[in-house]
Amino acid sequence: MTEESAALYVVPTPLGNLADLTQRAEAVLRRVPWVAAEDTRHSAPLLKHLGSSARTLPAHQHNEHEAAARIVEKLRAGESVALISDAGTPGISDPGARVVAAVRDAGCKVVPLPGACAATTALSAAGLLDEHFLFYGFLPAKGGQRRQVLESLRDTQAALVFYEAPHRVLETVAEMAEVFGKRTLVIARELTKLFETVHSLPLAEALAWLKEDGNRQRGEFVLIVSGAPDKADSGEGERVLKLLLAEGLPTKQAAKLAAAITGSPKNALYDLALAMKG
Ligand code: SAM
Repeated sequence: MTEESAALYVVPTPLGNLADLTQRAEAVLRRVPWVAAEDTRHSAPLLKHLGSSARTLPAHQHNEHEAAARIVEKLRAGESVALISDAGTPGISDPGARVVAAVRDAGCKVVPLPGACAATTALSAAGLLDEHFLFYGFLPAKGGQRRQVLESLRDTQAALVFYEAPHRVLETVAEMAEVFGKRTLVIARELTKLFETVHSLPLAEALAWLKEDGNRQRGEFVLIVSGAPDKADSGEGERVLKLLLAEGLPTKQAAKLAAAITGSPKNALYDLALAMKG
């Protein structure tokens, strides 16, 4: 690899299914002389599986500054480096941003590779009709701070995407139901793995659903809450929705028809219909 071509490659790795590593990621991990990994021991089997002879250096949240300096040194010496995290895309609720910033500041090249990310994988199967989404990632672990964050997001007209650990999923979902009220929740668990589940349900019913079967609380989670209804827009949609519900149409069908007739967002009308019924 020549000096001109030396770059920091930001390489997503699989969330659980090895086949999700892209051909390009595989080629880069085989070709580069250095791999900067969040946890070098964790990534060793993947590199071995690929037959990569790259040397590894640690780049985790506690050494990102030093790691960045070492990486810049390698790049200046003409050696390319691939940056990987334990799973998914580096820099997305994972270390990586400081390394990327330092490499950019040093005037070296950063090449991002597209690939596995729990947030986008969950969103793609969520079936929510929100036009926008806001990726929040992990909420604060402490109850008070978590509540504050949730309240600050209450009126956001975009689907809200959270990462959550299994031991906190029950309390987080309970709090989301209190703060957001009548919305849809999509629970995406163990994506790309054996027990993959993507379940969509009214937020108010989610806690009971999770408690019904202990297995539903296990593994890795992405939680997506449908966006806040557009208050300004909902007048006509709400009027038509009321008429259809009064005619005895089922909630889902009434929301769908009212959305088709008025152009109001179907999700918002569905949430509104649930609120009216509740
Ligand atoms: N960088 C990763 C990405 O691109 O998605 C995220 C890393 S973050 C430290 C780990 C969190 O991502 C987990 O706690 C979980 O919320 C989510 N996650 C990772 N893998 C997942 C999977 N297979 N299914 C559902 N969520 C997952």
